[in-house]
Amino acid sequence: MEKLELSHSFRHYLDELYARRSREWAFRGQGAAEFRRWQEQTRPRLAALLGGRERHRCPLNLRRALVEETATYRRERLYYDTRPNLTATAQLLLPKAASGPVPAVLCPPGHGGGMNQVLDEPGAYKQYPFALVARGLAALVPEHIGFGERTGAPDDDRQANHAFFYHALVLLGENAMGYLVWDLQRALDVLQSLPEVDGDRLGCYGLSLGGEMTLLLAACDPRVKVAGISGFLTSYQHTFLAEGHCGCGYVPQLARRLEHQDIAALIVPRPLVVETGTEDPSFPTATARASVEYLRSLYALEGAEDRLALDVFAGGHEISGAIAYDWFPRFL
Ligand SMILES: [Zn+2]
Repeated sequence: MEKLELSHSFRHYLDELYARRSREWAFRGQGAAEFRRWQEQTRPRLAALLGGRERHRCPLNLRRALVEETATYRRERLYYDTRPNLTATAQLLLPKAASGPVPAVLCPPGHGGGMNQVLDEPGAYKQYPFALVARGLAALVPEHIGFGERTGAPDDDRQANHAFFYHALVLLGENAMGYLVWDLQRALDVLQSLPEVDGDRLGCYGLSLGGEMTLLLAACDPRVKVAGISGFLTSYQHTFLAEGHCGCGYVPQLARRLEHQDIAALIVPRPLVVETGTEDPSFPTATARASVEYLRSLYALEGAEDRLALDVFAGGHEISGAIAYDWFPRFL
């Protein structure tokens, strides 16, 4: 009897689909003038894909409370409104030695335990916001929708999973990444409203989902003057399309239009440091190198090669800081 079996795998089909249908909006022109025109056209197209961003800004309604004061820093808890009837929370670190307004770095958490993990657990984040504060910068660590303290009502288990929020948003015609980016844009509004912070000198630096948010936020919002992307900048082809990641990161149509390197091209010529651990299997170093090489050609177009750095370090899915910790005070 003839042996019957599947002749093609769906993975193979996906590879073929990607080959036919990816990077449709990538820069294909020549020279600095065409590149800048491409950036101006592509930024609003990316923002439209992300969707979910109210064009009007509701009042921030910012509230501040002291958490801790040491010899070197002041730690505060903030509450503020990112949309009508939606309140966000974040923690702010301010260096004590400052004599005037200081630059600030937004530190969006990764896909994990939220802002308290970033600040208080030694693990993958290495409590990096404190390293920035030690260098005279302020740091704002926001809580993403659906993570940490924003997982919903504590007495309702049905709301205790961020995937619930994100799937619900899809049903309602929105997507998670767009909501998170808008929340971070409101966090930039918060920083610009603080008398202790110089609102023209803002950066963003994050690991994993925090790196993804840094990539998308810096691409969309020029208020981010310096960016640090750790454990993320590679490609959709070799991450989200190579193995299953949490569904919250799958923005409808995004890989069809733009790859990681194309989104990062919207950051040029602002200073960008990319971190990649050689033992980070889900975000491969070889792909990070290739993407940074592509970006290097675009920074060169602008005569800004010194504003792009790649930190390849022996380690896993974690913050390095070997270049980034001094990168922010240098350029901010
Ligand atoms: Zn997720």
